[in-house]
Amino acid sequence: MQFSEIKARDDQYVLHTYARFPVDIERGKNATLWSTEGKEYIDFTSGIGVSSVGTANPKWVDAVAVQAAKLGHMSNLFYTQPCGALAEVLCRRAGMSAAFFANSGAESNEGLIKLARKWSFDKYGKGRGTILTLKNSFHGRTVTTLSATGQDVFHNYFFPFTDGFRYAEPTMEGISQVSGHDVCAVMLELVQGESGVWPLDQDFVHDLAVLCAERDWLLLVDEVQTGIGRTGTLFCYQQYGILPDAVSFAKGIAGGLPFGGFLVNEKCRDVLGPGTHATTFGGNPVCAAAALATLDILSEEMMGEISDKGNYLRTAIDAMELPCFGPTRGLGLMIGIEVKPGHTNREIAQQLMENGLLVLTAGPAIRLLPPLTITRDEMDKGLAILKQTLA
Ligand SMILES: *Cc1c(COP(=O)(O)O)cnc(C)c1O
Repeated sequence: MQFSEIKARDDQYVLHTYARFPVDIERGKNATLWSTEGKEYIDFTSGIGVSSVGTANPKWVDAVAVQAAKLGHMSNLFYTQPCGALAEVLCRRAGMSAAFFANSGAESNEGLIKLARKWSFDKYGKGRGTILTLKNSFHGRTVTTLSATGQDVFHNYFFPFTDGFRYAEPTMEGISQVSGHDVCAVMLELVQGESGVWPLDQDFVHDLAVLCAERDWLLLVDEVQTGIGRTGTLFCYQQYGILPDAVSFAKGIAGGLPFGGFLVNEKCRDVLGPGTHATTFGGNPVCAAAALATLDILSEEMMGEISDKGNYLRTAIDAMELPCFGPTRGLGLMIGIEVKPGHTNREIAQQLMENGLLVLTAGPAIRLLPPLTITRDEMDKGLAILKQTLA
């Protein structure tokens, strides 16, 4: 099929909720992708941080195929082995106590919100259900996670939104301005992804964790984007020296299959009892097997490599001193590049695509989320396209 036909059919029958780039992808190998017509692309996106172990990683393909041939689905009313095995690995590596599995980032964050409100209700009763989130955050696209998102542009059209969120500047002063007796929790991303890749200040995060303990607020960390090795540790909070009460994850967890969930500490393990929270597909055995293979590939030993690769890319890009770019920022393989006035990230991304490099935009910045398994050769090819296109 020609690209023009693929595009025309999609335009006719799929809702236009995405501003798609004029590119189709048919197949790939690690961080190299090919269109139906055979054009090659270097992948600095991994979906949006999803294909964390690259495309068609043989270990992942094998795990998915073997599990699909054994048992594709079973209701959560029964036990299946992959679900428990995955929960154990995640808890051990994260220093947490128990897991709930879901299907997407927004759904995982909905779980954090329900957890915090019920935890507080059980202990303090009604009237303490407010959750503080940060300005410029992003927590998802459901009505409640849009409410939780601290950006006015997301609070439109879909009225009425869910009550019970207040938005703070990411400083202790900002937190104190919106705090109150109705608060049960704080929810935050440690590197704000969608708004432009902004790592939070270490001292602020530390002081906030202390305040949460003092006020008996739950500390909820949204690691949907930063989690599962993306920033160079399994979870980003492990670099910030804090231990959250609960942490959500999704995007990269199953290396490309739709999966997510959250982990809780000992204090929160009994909050959501039978009948209080559920989802049909959560803990699906094929997705869980994919996640186990993903975590096996993303071993503890491999975490240091992720930081090295991130530094390699950032050093190379900063050294190019491209006219449209300011400095890079980020952690591990979650990289933001400042775009200088007079240029737009969309137009830059488009030019790079024409020359065979896929990148993402976030807020006003260019965002790079390559597969964590990207090779030196693939990074060099991508960097060469960047330089050629933008110099
Ligand atoms: C992508 C993202 C979400 C939403 O995840 P979906 O799987 O699209 O629902 C939530 N929080 C953060 C930090 C994200 O990056």
